[in-house]
Amino acid sequence: MAQSYNGWSAAPGWSVKGGQLAALVIAGEPFSPGVRAGDVHTVLQYVAQQLHNRVEPVYKPGFHAADDWGYAYRPNTNNPSQLSCHASGTAIDYNATRHPNGKGGTWTAAQKAEILRILAEVGNVVRCLWGYDEMHFEICAGTAAVAAVANRLRGAVSPTRPPASGGLAYEPFQTGAKAGSRVVKLGSAGDDVKTVQRWHGLEADGYFGPQTEAKVKATQTRNRLAVDGVVGPDTWRVMGIGTAPAPRPPAPAPVKILPAPDPVLAFRADHGQRGAHITRLQEFLVRTFPEYAKWKPTGYYGDSTAATLREFARRVGIKGADGRNVGPQIAAALARHGFRG
Ligand SMILES: [Zn+2]
Repeated sequence: MAQSYNGWSAAPGWSVKGGQLAALVIAGEPFSPGVRAGDVHTVLQYVAQQLHNRVEPVYKPGFHAADDWGYAYRPNTNNPSQLSCHASGTAIDYNATRHPNGKGGTWTAAQKAEILRILAEVGNVVRCLWGYDEMHFEICAGTAAVAAVANRLRGAVSPTRPPASGGLAYEPFQTGAKAGSRVVKLGSAGDDVKTVQRWHGLEADGYFGPQTEAKVKATQTRNRLAVDGVVGPDTWRVMGIGTAPAPRPPAPAPVKILPAPDPVLAFRADHGQRGAHITRLQEFLVRTFPEYAKWKPTGYYGDSTAATLREFARRVGIKGADGRNVGPQIAAALARHGFRG
């Protein structure tokens, strides 16, 4: 079997349905079409979730949607004689349009430091390609090392109540305690503490010990909150968890905001056509998607344009498109990415 350059087996045609891949979705953003199922998924999911929590949101208004990618059977962009790690489902591209291939310095020094901490948390079985492909995070270790990290992340060692130490006694465990429903701190125990731990990438045993407190303090520092290690309304909010709202004065009459309609783009194109509209389409794809940056616009809608559009359609979740024509669905997706025809 073929291998990607990190030594993992690779083959075309993998899918979630076929069982070779598992879906990877962070905060609603899919890393299309998923990553290698099993230990690799566990590790890459952790990395992506922590990047989102601690470094840069995977999506927010103003960011490109659908610029997070997983498996793709193709050569390594930066050395086409090898198979890309995407071909074995062992790599992700994170916010690809913000950290395009071929460009360095897309992360700040503070972000880089946090990324290095996250990679250390997974035993450095994942690496990133500073300076030239900064969207890209790939597995750089073998199956045994990755399995060991994945087992630790999954909490394969069943959590037990830690012994009281240094005078720390835990309160009785609050089963079913809802995240955000109360203040938790050193000594707290309950299902809501598990939420705090999971968010911080810790083993979720539900007992708020010194390790959890240290992580909470770091989060508070980063978010310029009072650094007390106590998870109250502000700290819950940072974790994306709302707390019971305080009673508010009656709201003024709401201003009605109409939902933005789906963009409508009359642009259509077919395989075999030639012309300025095809050039505009190709230039748009090259400009918008760094993965296509080496592709030369020709003004002719041939097989490589079809393949690129098929890939684009797959990434934006249009099922079954063969890429041999741009119809209403693909046109709308292009418009959502800023194409004006
Ligand atoms: Zn990549």
